[in-house]
Amino acid sequence: MIDSSPTALPPSEQRVPVVIVGAGPAGLTLANILRDASVGCVVLEAESREFIERRPRAGFLEEWAVRALERHGLAGGLLERASTHSTCEFRIDGERHRFPYTDISGHHHFVYPQPLLVTDLVREYTDVKGGDIRFRVREVELHGIDTERPSVSYTDPDSGARRRIDCAIVAGCDGARGVTRSALPTERAHLARLDYGVGWLALLAQAPPSSDCVVFGIHPRGFAAHMARSPEVTRYYLQCPPGDDPENWPDDRVWSELHTRLAATGATPLTEGRLIEKRVLDMHNHVVQPMAYGRLFLAGDAAHLVAPIAAKGMNLALHDALLLADALIAYHRKGDAGGLRGYSAACLRRVWEYQEFSEWFAELLHGPSSGDPFRAGNATARLRRLFHSPAAAAAFAESYIGSTASRNPQ
Ligand code: FAD
Repeated sequence: MIDSSPTALPPSEQRVPVVIVGAGPAGLTLANILRDASVGCVVLEAESREFIERRPRAGFLEEWAVRALERHGLAGGLLERASTHSTCEFRIDGERHRFPYTDISGHHHFVYPQPLLVTDLVREYTDVKGGDIRFRVREVELHGIDTERPSVSYTDPDSGARRRIDCAIVAGCDGARGVTRSALPTERAHLARLDYGVGWLALLAQAPPSSDCVVFGIHPRGFAAHMARSPEVTRYYLQCPPGDDPENWPDDRVWSELHTRLAATGATPLTEGRLIEKRVLDMHNHVVQPMAYGRLFLAGDAAHLVAPIAAKGMNLALHDALLLADALIAYHRKGDAGGLRGYSAACLRRVWEYQEFSEWFAELLHGPSSGDPFRAGNATARLRRLFHSPAAAAAFAESYIGSTASRNPQ
């Protein structure tokens, strides 16, 4: 959508160095860091503040990401309230296999629900730092991203008037269903996509966790998982056919399947509770490359989607935001465009590491119920190697916690 409606372009009302489209973890992290560095920016968000502060999604943050947020003064609430996880458990053939990845890698996860992180980041940017964020904007359009003077227009939700902001850079942080990605010319942006051919019923239960760690249930009826979110709320997943209707999953059926697929000798029985979220995710991954064109730089889910198999998406979104912030600060302070030129390639290295791991891990989880004895045999071999080869265990632990320390942002 480069100048898709030039005749309707409203007059410019403002000029700022950076317009950020989308107030998710990526956009808000970027906005906070830019504001601290006195690089002016405006954030445009399609939803209301109340909505984004409640939208349930991720919960697991890798340690490097938390340390990076901490260095930017953005982890206060998180460090105060998050719990940490250091082990995951595989349940297969009625047996439990604990995998102490922190003992192996030296790093752990922080469990902090995404809505709490978003709430912290919004509060810090607007209420503490006085940053400019416009909620409930409509019909966001990008103009002239391949020129020196790009701009972003949108419809003001209160007056219905079209508004336009001129800028030097547009940061597309508007998630997998946003509009900024479509501004990349199709001949310059390539979409790589992987479909897993399965769905996951994503559930949130108002019930305390039933284990001290993430549990992966590998079962002939399909995969299931248990993941803590808070002392009162637990996320569960159940593999289901792609495109399945959540209506096909009344609460009784959900709990019965969870009990069956997560059963193991010596395991604490699952604590049931009211199901407050029930939706089907069609499991697929994709990557847009390059992640930049002209004056537009994509970050987070706007550029790449990772099915929530290994809790990677929000971590990648933060990684992009940190790199983009550094590059933009260097550009605006010193006119150094090197970081912006290398931004896409630097992000994509980690993106592809995480994509590759997610695919490998997905096959381990889905293979045994695929109905294909070859895939099932491979999955069993992967699991056995994990528990019998220290080298395989170390490789898994490093990928699972994302502890490729030499490449983690400062
Ligand atoms: P988003 O969070 O999607 O934010 C984009 C923002 O842009 C939104 O606020 C949206 O309203 C706004 N927007 C959209 N369109 C427009 C527009 N046209 N104009 C203006 N604004 C717009 N990741 C992990 O790392 N760990 C986990 O444990 C984990 N668990 C998950 C569980 C589930 C069930 C799901 C669905 C995802 C999970 N993820 C996890 C992935 C994680 O939630 C995402 O990767 C993360 O939200 C990406 O952040 P983002 O800022 O790039 O995009």
